[in-house]
Amino acid sequence: MTEQGPLAPLTGEVDVVIVGAGFSGMYMLHRLRALGLRTIVFEAAGDVGGTWYWNRYPGARCDVESMQYSYSFSPELQQEWHWEEIYAPQPEILRYARHVAERFDLRRDIRFETRVEHARFDRARCRWEIVTDRGDRVAARYCVMATGCLSAARVPDFPGAERFRGPTYHTGHWPHEGVDFSGQRVGVIGTGSSAIQAIPVIAAAAARLTVFQRTPNYSIPAHNRPMPPEHEQRWKARYPELRARAWETRNGIVYDLNDQSALAVDAETRRRIYEERWTAGGIPFMAAFNDLIVNPDANETAAAFVREKIRAIVHDPDTAAKLAPTSYPIGTKRICVDSDYFATFNCPHVTLVDVRQAPIVEITESGLRTTAASHEFDALVFATGFDAMTGALNAIAIENDAGESLRDKWAAGPRTYLGLMAAGFPNLFMITGPGSPSVLSNMMVSIEQHVDWIARCLADLGARGAAGIEASTAAEEAWVAHVNEVAHKTLYPAANSWYMGANVPGKPRVFMPYIGGVGVYREICEKVAANGYEGFHLLAPVAAAAE
Ligand code: FAD
Ligand code: NAP
Repeated sequence: MTEQGPLAPLTGEVDVVIVGAGFSGMYMLHRLRALGLRTIVFEAAGDVGGTWYWNRYPGARCDVESMQYSYSFSPELQQEWHWEEIYAPQPEILRYARHVAERFDLRRDIRFETRVEHARFDRARCRWEIVTDRGDRVAARYCVMATGCLSAARVPDFPGAERFRGPTYHTGHWPHEGVDFSGQRVGVIGTGSSAIQAIPVIAAAAARLTVFQRTPNYSIPAHNRPMPPEHEQRWKARYPELRARAWETRNGIVYDLNDQSALAVDAETRRRIYEERWTAGGIPFMAAFNDLIVNPDANETAAAFVREKIRAIVHDPDTAAKLAPTSYPIGTKRICVDSDYFATFNCPHVTLVDVRQAPIVEITESGLRTTAASHEFDALVFATGFDAMTGALNAIAIENDAGESLRDKWAAGPRTYLGLMAAGFPNLFMITGPGSPSVLSNMMVSIEQHVDWIARCLADLGARGAAGIEASTAAEEAWVAHVNEVAHKTLYPAANSWYMGANVPGKPRVFMPYIGGVGVYREICEKVAANGYEGFHLLAPVAAAAE
C-alpha cells in the first residue's frame, strides 16, 4: 500500500479495511494483525474509543459494572488495569481505550478524522473499494463495519432550530473542553439514559434547569461507589471462570437470576425481593424474577414497584406522576441506571415539562415554545438519542456489484444473517449488527464474540483458499424470521423504543436486535462455523480474484 505522508490520501490495497476505532474496531485490528492480514482502520473521530470519545456529557458512565464492561481477551490487561469505580465514568473508560491502543500499538494502522463515505464491491476482482472524505481510495478483500450501534447522533427536526441564539449541545457530540453551566438557565430535551445521567450533574451547576420529557423512563439507582478492593480482587481471582459464565448468560452480564415467576410468590416476598434488588442497584433489578419480559402481569409488579419508589422520592405529586412511566412495560425500553435522577426534581430550580401533553412547536431565539407555553434559557441540550443500529451503516453508501445499496435492501428494516453479514454483500462483516444480541447485552461480550468469530472465519477462508464468503438469501430469510419470532414472544415490541426504530420518524418498525440471548446466540454461531459455515457460500478463488 502507498502511504504518501500523514495527510496524503491513501491508495493501494490491503487485506482488510475496518471502519471505526471504538472497542469493536480496536479489537478487530488486534486480531487481524495476529493473523498476518494487512489491515487499515478509518475512524471519523480524532482518537480511539468510539462511544467514549464522543459522549463526554456530564455524568456519562457505563451501566454495566466496569469489572465486566472491559475486554477479556488479554489476561494481563484485565489483571493489570484498575477501575476506580464500580461503574466507570466516561473519562476513565476513554483512558482505558487509549491504554489499550498504546499497549497493543494500534494507532499506527488507524487513520483518524477520516470518514468512510462509500464502499463498493467489485465481484470480478472480489474486492471492496473504500472511499473516504479525505480522498483515500483503498481496495480490500474484506471490509468490517465496526461503526457502532449508537454512533449516529440525532437531533429531531424542530422548526426554528437555527434561530436559537445560545449554544446547543448533543450528548453524543459533547465538546472536548467541557461546558460550564454555572449560573445559566439550561434546557434539556429528552429523558433517556443519557439525559438521566446528565440531568443531576447539570442541575448541580445551573441556575435553572428545565427538562422537556416526552416519555418517562424506568430508572434504577446505580449506587455507584469507589471500587471496593475486595470486589476487584474477587473478580480478578476468578476472571477466566466469570468471563466464561458471562458468555453463557442471556445478556452477557454475570448476576443472579432468580429463576422464579414474579407471580409464584406472595406479595410480601415479591416486595422483599424487589427491595433487595433496588438496594443492590443497576440492571440486575430486571433479574428479580424470570418472567418480567415475557409476562405482562409479572412485569406490572416490577413496574408498579418502581413507580411507587418514584412517588416516594419525588415530593411534588404532580411531578412524580409525570415521572412515573405507565405507557409501556418496564425493561422494554432500555432500563436506565441513575445517580439521584428522581431526587433532582425536588430541587426548586429544576422544572419538568411534559411535552407529550403539550408538544414542542418550535425552537425560538431565546428558548422554545410548546403548545402550552414559552420557555427561555441560555443553553440547550439535546439528549435526543441516536439513529440506532442502522444509522451509521446507512450513512455510508454501501453498494454491491449489482448496484444494490444496503440502504435500499434495508428500506423495510435491516435484514442480516446472524447480524454478521447481509446476503448480496459478500466479504462485508458487521460487528454487533442488527439481528445479533448487540445492544441488549453487555456490549464488550458481544463485541469480543463477533470479532473472534470473524477472525476465525477469515483464518478458515485463508486455509481453504476461498476468496471470500457470502450469506445465502435463504439463511438470511430464516434468521430474520427467527429474530422476529423470538422478539414477539416477549413484551419488547410493545414499547415505542429505539430498538424498534420508533424514535426516528419514518424508520421501519422492526425489532432490530436478537433477543434469544447471548449464550444461545453464541452456540448458534459456533455451530454454523463448525458445520462449514452453514448458511454461507464460500467464494471460489476465481482467476479474477487472484492478486
Ligand atoms: P462505537 O463505540 O460507537 O464506535 C464506532 C466508531 O465508528 C465511532 O468512533 C465512529 O466515529 C466510527 N464511525 C462510524 N461511522 C464511520 C464512518 N463512516 N467512517 C469512519 N468512522 C466511522 N454498552 C454497554 O454494554 N454498557 C454500557 O454501560 C454502555 N453505555 C453506553 C453509554 C452511552 C452514552 C452510549 C451512547 C452507549 C453505551 N453503550 C454501552 C453502548 C456502546 O456503544 C458500546 O458499549 C460500545 O462502546 C460500542 O463500541 P463499538 O466500537 O462497537 O462502537
Ligand atoms: P434515547 O434513549 O433514545 O433517549 C432520547 C430521549 O429524547 C427520549 O427521552 C426521547 O423521548 C427524547 N426525544 C427524542 N425525540 C424527541 C422529540 N422530537 N421531542 C421530545 N423528546 C424527544 O437516547 P439516549 O438517552 O442517548 O440513550 C440511547 C442508548 O444509549 C441507551 O438506551 C443506552 O443503550 C445507551 N446509553 C447508556 C448509558 C449508560 O447508562 N451507560 C447512558 C447513555 C446512553 P421518547 O422516549 O418519547 O422517544
